[in-house]
Amino acid sequence: MHDIFQERESEVRGYCRAWPTVFTSASNAEMVDEAGKTYIDFFAGAGVLNFGHNNPAMKRAIIDFIEKDGIAHSLDLSTTPKREFMTAFVETILKPRNMPHKLQFTGPTGTNAVEAAMKLARRVTGRTRILAFQNGFHGMTLGALAATANGAYRCAAGLPLEHVDHAPYENSVGGGMPAIESLRAQYQNISSGAAPPAGILIEVIQAEGGVNVGTAEWLRAVEQLAREVGALLIIDDIQAGCGRTGPYFSFDGLGLDPDIVCLAKGIGGFGTPLAMNLVKPEHDARWEPGEHTGTFRGQGISFVAGREALRYFEDEDLQTRTLARGQMMAERLAELAKGGDHYEVRGRGMMQALDVGDTAVAKAIARKCFDTGLLVGACGERGRVLKLIPPLTIEDEKLDAGMKLFEEAVHSAAGVTA
Ligand code: PLP
Repeated sequence: MHDIFQERESEVRGYCRAWPTVFTSASNAEMVDEAGKTYIDFFAGAGVLNFGHNNPAMKRAIIDFIEKDGIAHSLDLSTTPKREFMTAFVETILKPRNMPHKLQFTGPTGTNAVEAAMKLARRVTGRTRILAFQNGFHGMTLGALAATANGAYRCAAGLPLEHVDHAPYENSVGGGMPAIESLRAQYQNISSGAAPPAGILIEVIQAEGGVNVGTAEWLRAVEQLAREVGALLIIDDIQAGCGRTGPYFSFDGLGLDPDIVCLAKGIGGFGTPLAMNLVKPEHDARWEPGEHTGTFRGQGISFVAGREALRYFEDEDLQTRTLARGQMMAERLAELAKGGDHYEVRGRGMMQALDVGDTAVAKAIARKCFDTGLLVGACGERGRVLKLIPPLTIEDEKLDAGMKLFEEAVHSAAGVTA
């Protein structure tokens, strides 16, 4: 059959190569392809679909909104869906945490939120450098890409990526507290050659980087360093936020007080784009009107669905379920890890991962999963880590069935070597 994707879609296409089929429909944690084969989705649009595909409450709200001729596109005009989203966000998420942050809607992808955060940190401090971390992932546009550590993505920039330094993350070689001490010493020494940064940009859990989980102690030391050197603490919660780890933010309960929080992916609720920075008011005041502009800053449909998503955080139900299911996933992975010499389990809440330490093995497992009807993606250095991020709303029996398929795939990959 004529394959338009093969013939005409750019060579840059990626995910469709790992999952070579044509999908036609999806509901909660299940996708269906043209042949009628169903797949349990343990990838959830790379962390976008925390509330499932075609979430019924969101679908209803979106249909009503369109039928009433709601404002789908509005630049950054004030609209009723935006007011409802903002009000719900402030009441449900920010006020209970005593967060005075302002909401800045950026261009609709995570990378643009990161761009805006880096710009503002530079403006506030009058400095140029940003400190990011090894294995961190922050997006593909040049500013954010300079902070993204992955060599393959960086190579594609075609020009030097500047003004960002990369320190080892907690579990990187040379990381942990000694790395923080070393940075502190460098910044204190005016003859070290190291300029103090405008901002420290960090993921509480490095998602694309291989599900590296920062401990509260280490993350607080990072924050302390930021305070001492006069840098803004920027938490990129684009993938680990919106309930993925249990509470709304991945940093909830860790004793952190970020100056800027970058959010995207899950905040639009339905899978339509929306990105937003939470910015402390004293920093936000440094923007001039329209300085970080863009055509798509807040979509009507995303506001409507995103508002529905916030209902999941009005009580503790979803959080409790996410933690319990995450625990179950971690236990099953730990059991699996016993079968591999160097296998390691990492994660928090419903972002769990099995590091198999080998690209070919990880690839074979992901491929077997696809063949048997489970969508699982590889991440981490050279794709050695299998990351399991099903929708938080997945039915118990689907979660169990997906874990079984994953377990079978891991067993069947035993013996695969690079
Ligand atoms: N930051 C983090 C932590 C991410 O995981 C991602 C995407 O995976 C981004 C930023 C970039 O987001 P986007 O792909 O929407 O630009």
